[in-house]
Amino acid sequence: MMRVCAIIRTMLPQITQLLQLQERDQRIRALQKELKDIPKSEALAKTQLAGDLAAVEAASQKNKEIEVRIKSVELDIQTRQNSIKRLQDQQFETRKNEEFQALGVEVQRYQREVTALEDKELEFMEELEAGKAALKEAQGRLAETQARVDEELKSLAARAAGVQKRLDDELAERAGLVAPIEPGPLDLYTRLFAKKPDAAVVALENGICGGCHMKVVIGTIQALRQSEGLTQCESCGRILYLVE
Ligand SMILES: [Zn+2]
Repeated sequence: MMRVCAIIRTMLPQITQLLQLQERDQRIRALQKELKDIPKSEALAKTQLAGDLAAVEAASQKNKEIEVRIKSVELDIQTRQNSIKRLQDQQFETRKNEEFQALGVEVQRYQREVTALEDKELEFMEELEAGKAALKEAQGRLAETQARVDEELKSLAARAAGVQKRLDDELAERAGLVAPIEPGPLDLYTRLFAKKPDAAVVALENGICGGCHMKVVIGTIQALRQSEGLTQCESCGRILYLVE
């Protein structure tokens, strides 16, 4: 704590102002990043639905196929029943015993086919029943996921609103911090902060720049001790303040 006080006493007033501004700008930058990342989180939340949606679609498609098969079997049964009816009409009209017998054999053949087709239809209908249960289950899972995703999206929206509010507050307070800073130092700081991901104003400790971690030349240290203006690191350009 004592060391911090010593630094503050020897620090140029511009440096103190810029450090306060920088602290604020770093918070603003973090909030802006958080705000920018929220749509990515929303998109990620929505991808959870993809699997469940695909399962519902597949189950529904399968049931449609079974329904088509049932319709086709029903049509086959109908065709044979029409044939049976036609043969029975012919049987009714014929007076020849041989022909009557032959038609009877045909009728029996069609009836056996109808029985086999009816068995098949029953099988398909059982399959459809199982398919409908599977579809219902898949829809249930989708509804659960949808509810969870909706909850996540709601909390993300709330977070976005909170971050936006804090950002607005920080920006409003920033205006007050900028006002007393001279245009020259402010301009230099603004240009540097836009280019550097971390900081524009850094400490020089043991002759090492806190930004690029390079050793500065002795002239830079002398300038920091004597100059009334701002001194920059000759390697990275960041504004330096001396910590001794
Ligand atoms: Zn540097």
